[in-house]
Amino acid sequence: MKYDYLIVGAGLFGSVFAYEANKRGKKCLVIDKRDHIGGNVYCEDVDGINVHKYGAHIFHTSNKEIWNYINQFAEFNNYINSPVAVYKDELYNLPFNMNTFSKMWGIKTPSEAKDIIAQQIADLNITNPENLEEQALSLAGKDVYEKLIKGYTEKQWGRPCTELPAFIIKRLPFRFIYDNNYFNDRYQGIPIGGYTRIAEKMLDGVDVKLNMDYFELIKGNPEIADKIIYTGMIDEYFEYKLGALEYRSVRFETERIEEENFQGNAVVNYTDREVPFTRIIEHKHFEFGKQDFTIISREYSSEWKPGIEPYYPVNDDKNSALFAKYQELAEKEENVIFGGRLGAYKYYDMDKVIEAALGLVNEEL
Ligand code: UDP
Repeated sequence: MKYDYLIVGAGLFGSVFAYEANKRGKKCLVIDKRDHIGGNVYCEDVDGINVHKYGAHIFHTSNKEIWNYINQFAEFNNYINSPVAVYKDELYNLPFNMNTFSKMWGIKTPSEAKDIIAQQIADLNITNPENLEEQALSLAGKDVYEKLIKGYTEKQWGRPCTELPAFIIKRLPFRFIYDNNYFNDRYQGIPIGGYTRIAEKMLDGVDVKLNMDYFELIKGNPEIADKIIYTGMIDEYFEYKLGALEYRSVRFETERIEEENFQGNAVVNYTDREVPFTRIIEHKHFEFGKQDFTIISREYSSEWKPGIEPYYPVNDDKNSALFAKYQELAEKEENVIFGGRLGAYKYYDMDKVIEAALGLVNEEL
């Protein structure tokens, strides 16, 4: 049986593409090496609590089209992400805003906060921040950088802040108003019924094969489809022939606790280096859960190596240059299109993944 499209990876990118292609009468086969669909947005329902198995996913976008698009597949609740950060025995609100500054320095007004930040960086002369450290210092000063950013970032990325790109910290709002909303986006929420249900709806009526390795499938069936949409690691596809791209991985220690409310918030970051994990997620709070038990996940970051799951591309200069070379190979690869976080080697949020998949739909279909 020959398909129009073989879609490798049943995550958001692959599922959106499959949904749109199927709608237009194209025959699609979606494969995934995992035993479930949804990719990293997959959630497992544990006695009524949706456990985000591959890390917390909070949907947020400023793109109304994307918001309307995803709302076809689920209604969203009114969850607003407002993490807190624990640094030794101190606790601060995130993102970096007047609540954070007020607690840090015992001040009340934006001008007091701005004065302190200016004093703290006066001798550094940062005009054009060239790395994450300079960017963070110039936005929030030394105290915030040292207590809330340095340790967390170095745990998450396994690299000094001076060697990381500034854009990573620019993902977060820095604001001089009392507002703990972690995102600046117009639309935000968690899908009622869970992310897995969204993937199920997208893949309804599409052939899906789980526990299936692409390389094995294609070896035995090189003619299985006219075109391939590949959302796995681009360097793995090319058998690492130009060298391996670097990724960060995450390991979760998930625990069920017979207590209603463990930490009082969905996300608590641990920003000092001494605590080995970066954050604890209490899954029920994403959906205002009222169960008499709770489930938490401690999140540990590590360098990716073969055999574990890749999560974050490391978009520094070295890896960006190597990725550009893989992209040249990708362009020459007839009938294969690369996409998604791993195929495009991009630190994509969910809305951007959907945007990219719909962009491909417009070009392709
Ligand atoms: N970050 C930080 N302290 C925090 C939270 C985030 O320094 O308490 C920095 C860190 O460098 C991280 C970046 O901000 O990599 C982006 O954080 P975000 O929460 O967007 O990361 P994700 O949710 O994708 O893991």
